[in-house]
Amino acid sequence: MSVRTRLAPSPTGDPHLGSAYAALFNRAFAHQNGGEFILRIEDTDQTRNRAESESAIFDVLRWLGLDWDEGPDIGGECGPYRQSERLAIYKEHMEQLLASGGAFRCFCTKERLDEMRRQQIQAGKTSKYDGKCLTVDPAEAEERAARGEPHVIRLRVPEEGECRFVDGVRGDVTIPWSQVDMQVLIKSDGFPTYHFASTVDDHLMGITHIFRGEEWINSFPKHQLIYQNFGWDMPKHYHLPLLRNPDQSKMSKRKNATSINYYRRCGFLRESLLNYLATMGWSMPEEREKFSMDEFYADFTPNRLSPRGPVFDIEKLSWLNGLYIRELSSEELKARVFDWAFGGERLDRLVSLVRERSERFDDLFPKVDYILGDRVDLTEQDFEHKKLELSDSKKVLEFVNRALGEVEQWNRDSLYESLNQLAGLMNVKFKDFLFPVFVAISGRSVTLPLFDSLELLERDIVTIRIRSAIEALGGISNKERKRLDKEWRTLVD
Ligand code: GLU
Repeated sequence: MSVRTRLAPSPTGDPHLGSAYAALFNRAFAHQNGGEFILRIEDTDQTRNRAESESAIFDVLRWLGLDWDEGPDIGGECGPYRQSERLAIYKEHMEQLLASGGAFRCFCTKERLDEMRRQQIQAGKTSKYDGKCLTVDPAEAEERAARGEPHVIRLRVPEEGECRFVDGVRGDVTIPWSQVDMQVLIKSDGFPTYHFASTVDDHLMGITHIFRGEEWINSFPKHQLIYQNFGWDMPKHYHLPLLRNPDQSKMSKRKNATSINYYRRCGFLRESLLNYLATMGWSMPEEREKFSMDEFYADFTPNRLSPRGPVFDIEKLSWLNGLYIRELSSEELKARVFDWAFGGERLDRLVSLVRERSERFDDLFPKVDYILGDRVDLTEQDFEHKKLELSDSKKVLEFVNRALGEVEQWNRDSLYESLNQLAGLMNVKFKDFLFPVFVAISGRSVTLPLFDSLELLERDIVTIRIRSAIEALGGISNKERKRLDKEWRTLVD
């Protein structure tokens, strides 16, 4: 049987470092064994999917050289590779699972579930579904469903005993069934959840090995039940340790740059990023730190994966990147720098922005330095303004970041619309409102047109710069965040 692995990202945000990390191991293992690496888009969460996210995934994986053998854009024998195009397949499989008793319809209302959860938490118990609808007679449940009564479909989970399995990284794992929730497999909108769609697809796509983040290890028992109910063989699982910050805390989108694009836009080379990711949770013989992808593909063996949480340290990555930069030939370096700074339409855009504002060539470069360069160092003084207190500026920046997080199409016009609307809601004059944003992204109060700048800088750099500006203004305490959360809800609801 041929080895088949997969990456199954959800197109809900900016492609995450964790996706590149998982792709790297899945692809290496498949190709090393003469097998296939598949890209499947898990887009069943209709509320969180973002239109531009899928193409961003294709784009960054290609930039990294992590291309796939089958996928939504290139097809393959097990397509379609986008879950939203496979709904009929899930429906058919769910009918089988219901008929075999592996799943049941649950008609509990949101109010009942909220009350159940409240009582469980109050009693200090793990919050999970209490199994009320297990007692509904299956024939009656079918009738109620046929009448259109709103409901979900849940997984039947044993009440006693333990789920035991062998994880390729951690070895023996035991999870008591009492800790496993009767997971919703089909939501009330008829869409499957990750657990059901992913399991059915892994089987139908012939996946033999899965390298995925440790955050999924507690889902394994649920997935195992689904496999067992269908009588399918389960792929071998390897749960990769989560990336950590130098202080050992988990890397999270809220605090760190976790998007691949951020590293690309800061000018890291794909070689160093891949090399560095390959040292996260895996090690070369003799712990060698610098190696090429050819060497990695030749030497990779899952035996040397370790469950210890690896530290992703941008300083270390920068050091490694420097080594790679110095190894490039001058020709190659020139080509790479040019492509990074001016590739695609960037050169045309920059030229058209600066020519109107320049009299001599030496005016040109200082005008674009904040777009091409990273690291804008800011202090509170930079935010002094006659109408806005520092705390107002901080609030504006925090809300700007929230609003920008919702913008689907990252272009000048949608950015303008979003911020203009926010300024209106916050009742701050647009010109004053934009002042801290100018400072945050450029370190100055006047720049090239702001919305063109935001578009050119791209989402990740903008988000991180605004976040650093908030830090320069003293950061946001937990108490302040709670207050801001409340204020934000009243603004946007
Ligand atoms: N769609 C899941 C994610 O985005 C896939 C997890 C898995 O690899 O099973 O993380």
